[in-house]
Amino acid sequence: MKVLKFGGTSVGTVDSLRNVKRIVDSLEEPAVVVVSALGGLTDRLIATARAAAQGEDSFRDDVAGFARRHSEIIEALVPSDRRTEVSATVRGLTAQLLEIYTGLSLIRDLPAKTLDLVVSFGERMSSVIVADILENAVHADSLEFIRTEKWFNRDIAARQLTDSLISEKIALPLAATVVTGGFISRDKDTGDITNLGRGGSDYTAALIAARLGADLLEIWTDVDGFMTADPRIIPDARVIPDMSFIESMELCSYGAKVIYPPTIYPVFHRNIPIRILNTHNPSAPGTLITDSSDSLPADVRGVSSVKKTAMVSVTGSLTANVAEINSRSFNAMARNGISILLVAQPASDAAFSIALAEADAGKAMEALRAEFAPELQEGSVREVSLETDLTVLAVVRESIKEIKGLGARLVNTLQRYGVDVKAVSDGASETTIAIIVPDSDAVRSLRLVHSACFSGQQAQ
Ligand code: ADP
Ligand code: ASP
Ligand code: MG
Repeated sequence: MKVLKFGGTSVGTVDSLRNVKRIVDSLEEPAVVVVSALGGLTDRLIATARAAAQGEDSFRDDVAGFARRHSEIIEALVPSDRRTEVSATVRGLTAQLLEIYTGLSLIRDLPAKTLDLVVSFGERMSSVIVADILENAVHADSLEFIRTEKWFNRDIAARQLTDSLISEKIALPLAATVVTGGFISRDKDTGDITNLGRGGSDYTAALIAARLGADLLEIWTDVDGFMTADPRIIPDARVIPDMSFIESMELCSYGAKVIYPPTIYPVFHRNIPIRILNTHNPSAPGTLITDSSDSLPADVRGVSSVKKTAMVSVTGSLTANVAEINSRSFNAMARNGISILLVAQPASDAAFSIALAEADAGKAMEALRAEFAPELQEGSVREVSLETDLTVLAVVRESIKEIKGLGARLVNTLQRYGVDVKAVSDGASETTIAIIVPDSDAVRSLRLVHSACFSGQQAQ
């Protein structure tokens, strides 16, 4: 049994939904199909909510537009005997949405809980429609089985409860293909509608695949596979035929948007392969992600980058107790729910630096200043400082240390072209060399690193 996930670009138009139908209807056995909202809709739902909360009146037209977009798809693709029912369901949902927007425009506020409710409508509408477009398919409401719990101010999957609910709601062996909405969930304690984070439909699919013991998780998107870099930044990036779970995990957590990072853990633990495929070009072989790294390439597997990174540095005469300072810093971050991107060796004279998401920088500074208050007082820590507007470039391959001198070579290349390399993390990880550069140099640096890794020539 397979789990197939179709992203927004795969379910955005009548033409792409025709491809989805061809792909799923030609399967030899029933499968689980996870769909995102129609392409771009989640962004629109959010923008409309913000406008309504500011008292703008455009939400009525917007909702009419959302309703029209869904109706056009129903008219074109849902068989006539099922059209009335699915149209009524979608009408009911858009009516609720209109009420919520009206409420927002009255209270002139946008509570986080209400925004979560608003964005859920995308997947709730797309999934019922797709279930009616496909042959021999039934709809399952993911709000009935994906549960989240609070972790600091985030909603994360409540795995145990979700696992048992998946088994309860999706009976094996499948009698028909099951279509469900990705991304959306409910809080396990309050029952409020929540979600797994932007891009989270991939994760819904992985949770289902892992629980049901699928043979394969297919992520259908709008590119021919996992590529050596983001093709929007590097036009000559090429498809990677195969890679390991660890490599994909590293590339995705450093910004490769093709898979939402938490997706990989559940399937990795059950050793379920992932294939990345293109809905618009279904015969392309795509990328196979497995646990084997039989075919380790001579060069690196891929590069990725994550913008809006900050670097927090602790400066002082700390050489004697670096290990202790490191572990106290990690604990201070963990206690505050801050994820560390990497620990870097700074180019400056700081003792050590931690890179993290810019959004967490303020909290991280506070936590470190509190942790090192005694040392700051007596002077062994001179300062805790912050640098923002940075990008982390990640160069990934299993056993990357075997490529002798790679980190130094890449840093030299960047510096030769005038890039202000802020820090590098080379040797701490078996899989990744990370280089921190200013955001303003991000694109140029990624091009330089990509061509140094894949063509041996430097780009401009
Ligand atoms: P979906 O709607 O299918 O979930 P996403 O936009 O979330 O699609 O992810 C696919 C996009 O990820 C591609 O269109 C591509 O622009 C981007 N991307 C970023 N890095 C990579 C990479 N290394 N390989 C392939 N695609 C990438
Ligand atoms: N529709 C959601 C988003 O745009 C989830 C997803 O597409 O995976 O973030
Ligand atoms: Mg996505």
